[in-house]
Amino acid sequence: LTSRLPAVGTTIFSTMSALAQQHGAVNLGQGFPDFDCDPRLVDLVTAAMAAGHNQYPPMPGVAALREAVAAKIERLYGHRYDPDREITITAGATQAILSSILALVHPGDEVIVLEPCYDSYGPAIALAGGIMVPVALTPGSFSPDFAAIASALTPRTRAIIVNTPHNPSGATWSAEQIRALEALLAPTDVILIADEVYEHMVFDGAAHQSASRFASLAARSVVISSFGKTFHVTGWKVGTVAAPAELTAEFRKVHQFNVFTVNTPMQHALAAYLSDPAPYETLPDFYAAKRDHFRAGLARRTPFELLPASGTYFQCVRYGGLPEPMASMREQDFCRWLTTEIGVAAIPLSAFYAEGFEQQLVRFCFAKREATLDSALERLATLG
Ligand code: PMP
Ligand code: GLN
Repeated sequence: LTSRLPAVGTTIFSTMSALAQQHGAVNLGQGFPDFDCDPRLVDLVTAAMAAGHNQYPPMPGVAALREAVAAKIERLYGHRYDPDREITITAGATQAILSSILALVHPGDEVIVLEPCYDSYGPAIALAGGIMVPVALTPGSFSPDFAAIASALTPRTRAIIVNTPHNPSGATWSAEQIRALEALLAPTDVILIADEVYEHMVFDGAAHQSASRFASLAARSVVISSFGKTFHVTGWKVGTVAAPAELTAEFRKVHQFNVFTVNTPMQHALAAYLSDPAPYETLPDFYAAKRDHFRAGLARRTPFELLPASGTYFQCVRYGGLPEPMASMREQDFCRWLTTEIGVAAIPLSAFYAEGFEQQLVRFCFAKREATLDSALERLATLG
C-alpha cells in the first residue's frame, strides 16, 4: 500500500496525552480545558433535543446559528457577512481547514504557511496535491517576516495560511502587521486562510486583528473559528467559516460531501447562547488571570525562560538554562523526560515545523483549574 501521507504518524497531541495518562502526569500538553463549560449551555442542548431538533439541519448549518455568527462578526469586526451565502457551520476548525484547502487548492499550487504552525495544515495541503511553502516566523518573537513572505510569493501561490492568535507561540498580530499583509497581497489573487480559533483570547486590552476587519482582506479570505475554544467545549467539534459568496460556494461543494452537516442540537444551543456577548467578552480576563498565575509561578519557582504570551491559552518556555543533560535534550526527548520523570506533560515546538527545528522550547497549556496549575508548578519546582 502506498500511503497518501507517508510522513504522518499519530499527532503529538494524542501521543503526549497518552503518555501523561500512562505516567499520571499533569497534562499541560494537548490544548483543552480541564473544567466544564457553562451549565446553561448544556441545558440549551438538552432543550434543543427535547424540542425535537434531532434530524439533519440545512447543509450550511442551522439558520439561527449562521445569523448569530454573522451578527457577532459584524458587532466585533464591522464586516457584514450574508448568513445564507457567506457563513457555514463546520465540524470544528479542523474540518474547516481541510475542506477549505481541498476546495481551493489545485494540484501543484503553492500554499505559504508560517512556521511553527498547527499540525493539520501540511497534511491537508498534501491531500489536495498542493505544495507547502514554509516561511519561518521570527525566532523568539514569532512575528511575521514580511520580506521572507514576499520572497516566497510566486505566480503559483494559491493561498497563505495565517493563524492569529498563534498556536503554539501565543503571539498575536498587530493592526500594522495585518495591514502589511494586506499591502503585500494587494497586487495578487492569493487567498488568505485565516485560522482565528483563538479570536477571543487576546490579552492586556489589545484587540483581535481579524482578517474580516480589513475590507480588501475580507474579500479574499476564508475566516475560520471554533466554538470549542471559545465556550470550553472542544469535544463538541463545532466551528465556523466566514467567506465571500464565491469562496463559500466552492467551500460548500466540498463540505457537503465531507460531512454534509454538523450535529443539530449543539447548533441550536450555540445560536441561543450567542445572544449574550458576556461569555466571549469576559474570556480575555478569564484566561489572562490563569496566564498571570501560571507565569508568576514559573518565574518564581522554575529555571525556565518565559516567552511573551499575548494570546491563546498557551505559554512557551525555554529550558536551555536547566542543568545538563536536560539543557541539551532534543525538545521531544525533553517533553518525554518531563512527563515521565517530573510528571508534567508539555508539547515540543519542533512538532510544529515540517522539517523539525530545535530551539529548546516547549509549550504548556494553561486552560486548567488553578489547582491543576498549582500541582504542575509544584512538580516543576523540583527542577531547581
Ligand atoms: N487551528 C488551531 C490553531 C488550533 O489550535 C486548533 C485546535 N486546537 C484547531 C485549528 C482545530 O480546532 P477544532 O478543535 O475546532 O477542530
Ligand atoms: N489544538 C489543540 C492543541 O494544539 C489540540 C487539538 C488536537 O488534539 N488535535 O493542543
